[in-house]
Amino acid sequence: MNFIDLKTQQLRIRDKIDHSIQAILNHGAYIMGPEVTEMEARLAEFVGAKACISISSGTDALLIAMMALGIEPGDEVITTPFTFFATGEMILQLQAKPVFVDIDPRTFNIDATQIEAAITDKTKAIMPVGLFGQTADMKAINAIASRHHIPVIEDAAQSFGATHHGEFSCNLSTIGCTSFYPAKPLGCYGDGGACFTNDEELAQAMREIRNHGQSERYTHTRLGLNGRMDTMQAAIILAKLDIFSDEVEKRQSVAAQYSELMHGSVTTPYIEQSNTSVYAQYTIRVSNRSEFCAKLKERGIPTAIHYPVPFNKQPIIQELLPEQVSYANAELAAAEVVSLPMHPYLSMDEIQRVAGAVVESVG
Ligand SMILES: *Cc1c(COP(=O)(O)O)cnc(C)c1O
Repeated sequence: MNFIDLKTQQLRIRDKIDHSIQAILNHGAYIMGPEVTEMEARLAEFVGAKACISISSGTDALLIAMMALGIEPGDEVITTPFTFFATGEMILQLQAKPVFVDIDPRTFNIDATQIEAAITDKTKAIMPVGLFGQTADMKAINAIASRHHIPVIEDAAQSFGATHHGEFSCNLSTIGCTSFYPAKPLGCYGDGGACFTNDEELAQAMREIRNHGQSERYTHTRLGLNGRMDTMQAAIILAKLDIFSDEVEKRQSVAAQYSELMHGSVTTPYIEQSNTSVYAQYTIRVSNRSEFCAKLKERGIPTAIHYPVPFNKQPIIQELLPEQVSYANAELAAAEVVSLPMHPYLSMDEIQRVAGAVVESVG
């Protein structure tokens, strides 16, 4: 059994991909080719935002978003300690300080009710993450941010395609950042990402920053970097976008069946009423995790731990931010979470095998 299945997906779109790769080899615009422009237009339309700026990776998208907002050394950015390393890493790359707010143990996302207490006069942004496929409480976070005149950057690397009060992730805040890493719900065949915004000035700043700060060719009006996504990867995203909504429905159907079959045995994902999830991961909680994972492995079922160590407990972070604060919910989640096989092409038989093994192994 596969943890994710990109091969079955590829069979659905292979002809289209072969055709577009041929077209790119013929036109030769490998960087910022017409497929990049088309993809940006389609992605912006999909989420409902005015601008999409494609970026070399989700990590660079976070960095470029913060650079566009003018985050500087010594500034504070409020975020979650329970996320992929890149979120806090990019804050530290700018020599800004990540200020952590513990998670809501039900959603694994930043607890919006604790954010206001963490705001200081140095706070320059709030960076919630839509972990495992559902957004944080962006409505509540936006309300706090607007009271304090602070921008919100959504790390939507795992939540592209999800909705919050009927609006799409990536279009819920000042800037939305996502990743097209192959294993994400919408992935390319290499590295890729994007920033979304409705603010034309920020959009222009991000376009310039991703291309060495050029406002026009060889006129560098600010410092930037090479943060461009290449044309071949844009063609992959274009092909995958055609089937993306169908795939999201299939993921949601797999999740619904898992949750029904495992109900009462383990803590299954909790999705807020106001949200839909794209299930970047289907993550359960168990108290006997290593034993549990070993039993699933014996039955041929792969599992993964996202993430075994909270950000603030990473060796380099203990060095850089030595003041020892504990985030109880994040730490407990890091000790208990297990992600199960999740992709749109899981068969009913596979779903039942996974759920059966989970129910047997949990006791
Ligand atoms: C994957 C991921 C990133 C980084 O994206 P890359 O494209 O791999 O650089 C950032 N934040 C979160 C929450 C992620 O899951």
